[in-house]
Amino acid sequence: MGNELYFDNSATTRISEEALKTYLSVSREQYGNPSSLHGMGKDAEGVLKDARQTIRKTVGDTADGTVLFTSGGTEANNLAILGRAHAKPRFKGKTILTSAGEHASVKMPLAALADEGFKIVEIPTTGGRLDPDAIAKYATPDVILASVMLVNNETGALYDLPAVAAALRRSSPDAILHVDATQAYLKVPVSVKSLGCHLLTLSSHKIEGPKGTGALWVDPGVIRNRGLSPILFGGGQEAGLRSGTEDPPSCAAFAKAAAIGFSALSERREKLAGLRAQLLARLQDDPRLSGIRPNLPPSFAPHVLSLTLPRIKSETMLHALSARLIYVSSGSACSSHGKHGTSALSAFGLSDKDADATIRISFSHRNTPEQVDLLADALAEEIARLARF
Ligand code: PMP
Repeated sequence: MGNELYFDNSATTRISEEALKTYLSVSREQYGNPSSLHGMGKDAEGVLKDARQTIRKTVGDTADGTVLFTSGGTEANNLAILGRAHAKPRFKGKTILTSAGEHASVKMPLAALADEGFKIVEIPTTGGRLDPDAIAKYATPDVILASVMLVNNETGALYDLPAVAAALRRSSPDAILHVDATQAYLKVPVSVKSLGCHLLTLSSHKIEGPKGTGALWVDPGVIRNRGLSPILFGGGQEAGLRSGTEDPPSCAAFAKAAAIGFSALSERREKLAGLRAQLLARLQDDPRLSGIRPNLPPSFAPHVLSLTLPRIKSETMLHALSARLIYVSSGSACSSHGKHGTSALSAFGLSDKDADATIRISFSHRNTPEQVDLLADALAEEIARLARF
């Protein structure tokens, strides 16, 4: 470790020293069970309370929403979707809106609901834009939930979610909006108020916090109206919506990373945008890279760049770069395990063949312009070498 060029920050990040220190300190000092009634329990509960407060601040919550800690973005997405669909009393409506090319942790619970008789309707995202006509057309009174990501993990496309919220307010009185902000959080401003959402998914390991931790932010109205049911049953922790002893060290470390990322948001955003622009400029100026086609959404988060290679499979390039200690991803690390491997790229409009030749570069504010130049040189050399086969 130390010589690597890590450009796979959308898959995960290295935990920051500050978050790690927080983790160790809470593990050593406040090791009580937050549910215990004694002083040690109260201390641990206090750690969780502070962490919730911090997370609320970073998502612009001034309305007293609830932060439920989960084991990550996947669980938060499952809780939002299954918990909403199975809320008691059941809603009359059976329709759920989503976008084409969501993460598997949204797509798979929706597929399970489709098997139960729910109607899942996908808003097209061709070219990296939510189709506004489809939003208007599909927002009907039967909709009980829309689950749409804010930033796509494979293309970096930033979607117009206030438009979805407005359509739902107009035409779908029983609907709430769930936003998977896993890739957006602390890369672009995320405000539950401006988004007009009721549920918001966050993941710690994408923002230099520990892995295996995340949160679902819940609007106070949803809690009041019992609009969400638990998917884990047990001791009734987390407002009865996520049983299981909480993990105060991880929650505190997550909040630490979030607080740092929040105060550095505009500075880091600028840095990320600069790195992305630098690589794009190299693609334009360096004739050795002229065969690469960037997939550019009209509106985007600054840390992701999707590149279609000239007749080279993404996996081949990934391994060639990995041998040089340069790390990128082929599409998305999560989806490359599943049968829905390239669906976000297909939804963007790529053919299967192009999707197969597409790599994802995802930057960290810790990357440097020198590293981006080394990446561009390595890409050029590997394209020349691999084209011979
Ligand atoms: N949603 C999106 C858009 C993601 O990119 C990811 C992680 N790849 C997740 C959800 C899942 O988050 P976690 O890894 O914390 O379960």
